[in-house]
Amino acid sequence: MATAGKVIKCRAAVAWEASKPLSIEEVEVAPPQAMEVHVKILFTSLCHTDVYFWEAKGQTPVFPRIFGHEAGGIVESVGEGVTDLAPGDHVLPVFTGECKECAHCKSAESNMCDLLRINTDRGVMIGDGKSRFSINGKPIYHFVGTSTFSEYSVMHVGCVAKINPEAPLDKVCVLSCGISTGLGASINVAKPPKGSTVAIFGLGAVGLAAAEGARIAGASRIIGIDLNPNRFEEAKKFGCTEFVNPKDHNKPAQEVLAEMTNGGVDRSVECTGNIHAMIQAFECVHDGWGVAVLVGVPHKDAEFKTHPMNFLNERTLKGTFFGNYKPRTDLPNVVELYMKKELEVEKFITHSVPFAEINKAFDLMAKGEGIRCIIRMEN
Ligand code: NAD
Ligand code: ZN
Repeated sequence: MATAGKVIKCRAAVAWEASKPLSIEEVEVAPPQAMEVHVKILFTSLCHTDVYFWEAKGQTPVFPRIFGHEAGGIVESVGEGVTDLAPGDHVLPVFTGECKECAHCKSAESNMCDLLRINTDRGVMIGDGKSRFSINGKPIYHFVGTSTFSEYSVMHVGCVAKINPEAPLDKVCVLSCGISTGLGASINVAKPPKGSTVAIFGLGAVGLAAAEGARIAGASRIIGIDLNPNRFEEAKKFGCTEFVNPKDHNKPAQEVLAEMTNGGVDRSVECTGNIHAMIQAFECVHDGWGVAVLVGVPHKDAEFKTHPMNFLNERTLKGTFFGNYKPRTDLPNVVELYMKKELEVEKFITHSVPFAEINKAFDLMAKGEGIRCIIRMEN
């Protein structure tokens, strides 16, 4: 391609400081170095994790920064040593990578790649410790190795999954984070037995995908828990059969759930990021066999407190990034589920805005309106 080895000037939504609206700027994107690729982003969407680090509630605030990690695009050019991808390939970027060589990548159980696992503090490329984005020579930092709120971005080849070129990128872009995370948290990690009861805490995109996963796995009762009752009607489309709003009760949600289920749910999946919901999600599972899975990203100072007897009574607590999927190996198969009509993604997409109006997507999430908002880079 004409841009190979060259600096590309393009529009990016830059976060100059915490919680301030993003501003669309012209940035310079340096060419991809060894094991890196230039990706032309066509569609991106907003996940709560972006908002969370933009608000700087996460670990270390890094600004100015280009956020965004849920997206779909096309490979523009590749750096030295890249053999798995070529210009024109359709790809989904992923916030956690797969080098295919480390002990984690070789293990059938883990997706926590030693080299490329999620690192929210790092704002530079791992190859040379530098940023590929700049304005007037000053670096603008990366976010989780993807920075998709830019017309062009540079990523490590291990954070890019090549998918079926027939898959519509304006739809499957939501599979690059939230939907796969929730789906995998249920199917791969919680593994609800057929006929079981599952509690889902938080009915945003991730939680609704977890509900969908529980239904696909064969759960018969799926109880949705959220503080926002506007979520409940919508959640029926994702398999939720019952609802609990903790605000409607004067006792803890875990007690309400224990009463509804004769002692506790078989599985629970927490998709809120709220520490109280995490503790409730663990304490509401049945003793003897219950398994709770944490998915939400907690506040940096959060501490999980529960009585050790809850563990002795044979309850299990687990956590997962990206639903335990290996990004490059497994994500193309999740896209195929959509292509075979075994997984619907349209119902997760409630809004769409042009790139120039990206801040509207933040407003919608702040108001708890809709599920996913697609940001169109081209118009
Ligand atoms: P979202 O904001 O769309 O949805 C979160 C929902 O949780 C909202 O409906 C909110 O009302 C509800 N909620 C908040 N506090 C609650 C509480 N105490 N009790 C019950 N409900 C509560 O967010 P999302 O994009 O669906 O993401 C959900 C979480 O998953 C976030 O913390 C995000 O950072 C995290 N996440 C984790 C991974 C991973 O790989 N582990 C990947 C993507 C997102
Ligand atoms: Zn690895």
